[in-house]
Amino acid sequence: MRKQLWIFCHNDVKFIKNVNAQRLILRKKHFCDRGINSSLFAVFLSGDPTCKVVRMEIVMKKLSCIFSLGLALISGCFANQEQEAMEQTVIIFKPDAMRQGRIGAILQRFEERHFHIIGIKMQQLGEDVLREHYSHLVDKPFFGEIVNFMSSSPVIIMVLEGDNVVKRAREMAGETDSRLALKGTIRGDFGMDKSQNMIHASDSVESARMEVMRFFTSQELFRANFHSTE
Ligand code: ADP
Repeated sequence: MRKQLWIFCHNDVKFIKNVNAQRLILRKKHFCDRGINSSLFAVFLSGDPTCKVVRMEIVMKKLSCIFSLGLALISGCFANQEQEAMEQTVIIFKPDAMRQGRIGAILQRFEERHFHIIGIKMQQLGEDVLREHYSHLVDKPFFGEIVNFMSSSPVIIMVLEGDNVVKRAREMAGETDSRLALKGTIRGDFGMDKSQNMIHASDSVESARMEVMRFFTSQELFRANFHSTE
């Protein structure tokens, strides 16, 4: 006698493979009456009403594990692709921006460009981290001035994510010396001079990578699905 293969899964009965011309109706009750409470069974049926129930829970669990793993790997690949494609930069709101209450105005400019904040925090910077962050300037005569200024109040540090965000954020910041920066740039509109120039913005993709690691742990970065709503 030919047979049908059915799966009994989460209180539901699904037909898997037709190997039998004979039609049999399965009811949940049929299984419950037999005291079957497990979530996953494969069932071989014949014309015999006292059909044979073959428990395949372990096999099916293994299969479902392999399937889940495959799915996780595939979705991981896609997530990585998106992650690699999306550029990040580090912005620091310097003490002059904090004191003058420019955070909202500056942040609004970044949000209007559709950059997404994936990490943000307030921090008091000390000399050690400033030496690292401004390592290319430690030998300059004005380095002491930088440390004094940058540690004169807590700052807000954030990671922005977006298309070509490093270059675009630098353009939005403007020239280092606020007096030379164009109107319409952050430094040109709000900054005072070379030192008090409102924000730091990473100068390259490579610097941005280092700076993200310098200021943020992976737990402090958040990967909401921001990009899908644009
Ligand atoms: P940027 O911030 O535009 O990338 P730099 O990397 O050259 O510019 O300098 C880092 C920071 O050091 C500047 O943003 C500024 O705050 C400070 N700085 C640079 N040059 C001077 C200077 N001559 N006097 C005082 N501070 C300076």
